[in-house]
Amino acid sequence: MTPAEQKAVDLLERVVAQMPHAEHRSGQTEMVQHVANTIDTGAALVVQAGTGTGKTLGYLVPILAAGQTAIIATYTKALQDQLASVDLPLLQAACADDPDLAFSWAILKGRNNYLCRQRMSEIETGHDQLALTDAPRDVAEDIRRLVAWGADSPSGEMSDVPFSFGDSAWRKVSLGSDECPGASKCAFGETCFTELARANANNANVIVVNFTLYGLDLEQDREFLPAHDVVVFDEVHELEDVISDTASVTITGRMVANAAETARAGLSSQKLANALNKTAKELDEVLSQFSGQRLASPLPDDIDAALRNAGTQCDLILEKLRASPSETPEHLRATAAVSRMLEALRKVLVSGSNIVAFVSDVRGAARLTAAPKRVNHVLGTVWQDTTAILTSATIPPGMPKRLGLVVEDDAIVRVPSPFNYAKQSLLYLADDLPVPNAPDRAPRLQARIRELITSSGGSALVLFTSWGVLRDTAAALNGQLGKGINMYVQDDMPKKALLDAFRTDTTSCLFATRGFFQGVDVPGDALRLVIIDKVPFPAMHDPLLDARREDAGDGAFMIIDVPMAAAALAQAAGRLIRTATDRGVVAILDPRLSQKRYKRAVLSGVEHMPETNRLVEVEDFFAKQRV
Ligand code: SF4
Repeated sequence: MTPAEQKAVDLLERVVAQMPHAEHRSGQTEMVQHVANTIDTGAALVVQAGTGTGKTLGYLVPILAAGQTAIIATYTKALQDQLASVDLPLLQAACADDPDLAFSWAILKGRNNYLCRQRMSEIETGHDQLALTDAPRDVAEDIRRLVAWGADSPSGEMSDVPFSFGDSAWRKVSLGSDECPGASKCAFGETCFTELARANANNANVIVVNFTLYGLDLEQDREFLPAHDVVVFDEVHELEDVISDTASVTITGRMVANAAETARAGLSSQKLANALNKTAKELDEVLSQFSGQRLASPLPDDIDAALRNAGTQCDLILEKLRASPSETPEHLRATAAVSRMLEALRKVLVSGSNIVAFVSDVRGAARLTAAPKRVNHVLGTVWQDTTAILTSATIPPGMPKRLGLVVEDDAIVRVPSPFNYAKQSLLYLADDLPVPNAPDRAPRLQARIRELITSSGGSALVLFTSWGVLRDTAAALNGQLGKGINMYVQDDMPKKALLDAFRTDTTSCLFATRGFFQGVDVPGDALRLVIIDKVPFPAMHDPLLDARREDAGDGAFMIIDVPMAAAALAQAAGRLIRTATDRGVVAILDPRLSQKRYKRAVLSGVEHMPETNRLVEVEDFFAKQRV
């Protein structure tokens, strides 16, 4: 063992000894050594860490043992919460009495997660009467309560607000980074909640952020996040999509109209704002005609003309604002908002072989997006400058390369799960059901779900790849699951409340869609059966994926679709066994798996589970648990 590895392993032992149920996990020690070594050499490491490895300590411990500053970037809020409420406090306690190891940590979010003191002041002083008088009564009430709460809150952070409120109220009291003129130009810059959170993060050794904030920081030339030695991308199988989003440019008529309204408050004459508003409507109309379509490059004439028209008007507004400089918040906000709008308009007009432009319909509004097909160039600077640890329970084949990281698939470290899947689990592949979309599938699918739930006695997470099938199945099985087995459905209540109910009502069943394929941690008897209605292939007509498929050529299905389905399936199946004493069945109700050549590739993330296609074996498995 190298000295760096030894130091990290010693710290791990000390931390584990302080845990309530101290447990040595060889996979965790192995991961700690790999990460310690990577930090020592300043390279990059990709670790597939099976469920139960304890991967968060697997990377945090060597970072602290090496005295490095790190950003931990995660995909789900559940993982952020786990780091903040369990792992980091535990580590802090374990390191507190050693001055060489003592450290501080912080969670940092994007600007629109914090109240804006400038906006609060405008509303409180009556300077922005419209925020209250123009808003519906319940929204105005939420705004008043948020402003009153913000006056005493030390954080001003959205998730700390102790009462519920609507999105539109929050938008009135917060500011996106595109509207904020910057702390140096703001009268409240010194007490700004976002700036305080950033200062706090600047002084911390470990900063937890989400992928989106990390991606936006890369887009802003790394101006927002503090400098760091190490970055950890946990749940890295989702990184490509998020970076693709943060590197994309999105324009809607509503966004242009919002820029016009923000500009209006900073202009002495309304003419230019009215003109931009009119163009916003024209842009919306023109985009609506292309809804659902991928666009040619260069863009169709109508769209191109509307975008250029909006750009010219933004230029004129900025000229006007610069001609009468002012430090009023309205003027500064108008300048920031119109500048950002102009920047977005210019970016979206740039075509290139790596850009895919398309129009989608989002809640009735047409949205133009220009997205990069590949994100390797976005992350290139990270791999050059920073020690990077990429980890997840599932690393899809080819993923590091798509992220621009030169690591061969066989160089990926695979740390096995400590769980005994051969004894603890069973994988049931139903090969006798009609294929998805077959006319007789729905009643057979519903009957099989009921049979499975009957054999487990409830405690099932039933996952669907479409809302339509979820709703039809839930309606058909409502009241049919057996005595004492309640059904919860995803849109019944917010995710946290739903999971709390499912966890507490231990024989209940939870019917949900893809949002529950990950971030669900229900150990013990409350979850003994995971049912997946069909192989979760990505959407067939996704413009960005279509472009990637075209680039991949003849083998696109195996290169793009199959790894994505395998990763999603492994994540969903990973909800089942969360501790060494859990027992249960994963059931996949898609007969295509038995007929198609992609079976083994799709099942690559669950191959450690014994497999059967006989329902009676599932019944036996659960019968044995009851003995
Ligand atoms: S710096 Fe920006 S976000 Fe902070 S108070 Fe000022 S305007 Fe609001």
